[in-house]
Amino acid sequence: MMDQERARAYHRLQLRLSAVRLGLGAAYLAALIATGWAARLADALAALTPRWWIQLAAALLVLGGGYRLATLPLAWLAGFWLPRRFGLLHQPLRQWALDAVKAAAPGAALGLAAAEIVYAFLRASPWWWLWSALAFLAMSTLLTLVAPVWLVPLFYRLEPLPDPALRDRLLRLGARAGVPVIGVWVADQSRKSRTANAAVTGLGRTRRIIVFDTLLARFTPDEIEAVLAHELGHHAHADIWRGLLVQSALTLATFLVADPALRAGAAALSLRGPADLAGLPLLALIVLALSLLALPLGNGWSRRVERQADDFALRTTGNAPAFISAMERLGALNLAEREPHPVKEFFLHSHPSIGRRVARARRLPGSPG
Ligand SMILES: [Zn+2]
Repeated sequence: MMDQERARAYHRLQLRLSAVRLGLGAAYLAALIATGWAARLADALAALTPRWWIQLAAALLVLGGGYRLATLPLAWLAGFWLPRRFGLLHQPLRQWALDAVKAAAPGAALGLAAAEIVYAFLRASPWWWLWSALAFLAMSTLLTLVAPVWLVPLFYRLEPLPDPALRDRLLRLGARAGVPVIGVWVADQSRKSRTANAAVTGLGRTRRIIVFDTLLARFTPDEIEAVLAHELGHHAHADIWRGLLVQSALTLATFLVADPALRAGAAALSLRGPADLAGLPLLALIVLALSLLALPLGNGWSRRVERQADDFALRTTGNAPAFISAMERLGALNLAEREPHPVKEFFLHSHPSIGRRVARARRLPGSPG
């Protein structure tokens, strides 16, 4: 029970920090609009260069960079101080900061590319919401394709699963499930944290299961098999593709609703149309609000997919006790909330709670108690 109190305390603090960060972000954007700073910045940049895409990049650098700097202490609290206090991180500050910079660089590049795409279409067509959503689908597909070979290695050393006995089990599992087996790579998470996890990443030839070395070190072979079977379930159900399509549908819906909101806001602020750079914080605020609304939809979909992968794992291994003890071990290592408040789970959780996953495995025919 002690652990559950710690888990609840940890997640309560993290949730508060997220709420503060979100509130600050929204207030910052609203202030940029209300004070006229955004308009003044847009004018100043227009005086410097006639090229709109350079103006946009500069505005993003100033506004986005300012926000990142201002919220640096919050990022440190949520990403470093709090996880360390709760034993979820043992990485030294230098390493952690290096990882954060390595994550921020591609993040900023992607954010810039996304903004340039949206504004290029905003300037060119009233159908910007459709073209932008399609361009985002292409971009995220490409990103998914290269992530396991270009992005993950920035943060982890990866090596093929060394254990021949485990490889054999996985092959048998795939054969039993009628799924072509995919490669398993081990990531050295233990250098940073005790937390355990596994995931299917990539598309086509880059598709693979990545599993943390912490999981291999702390779980029994039966439990590891249960986790790998869950990942194989994602593979069998083409969940990466389904996820890309669902995310794109949500993006499309977000942009579709953002369009009239942006036009109305731009008119109310007497901007020169929706593509006016002075409206950048307005567009950001609208997209932020709509993404919050889309969050429970995306997470609800994700929990459904996770449940299906659990069912697949239980069916193919026929070993509910191993699945259950794997879940319990994951929950303990990752300091998961066993039974989060249903409202919180509904809005924020991409996976069903450990309590639900265990209960479902117990209800399965032929499983213990
Ligand atoms: Zn999963």
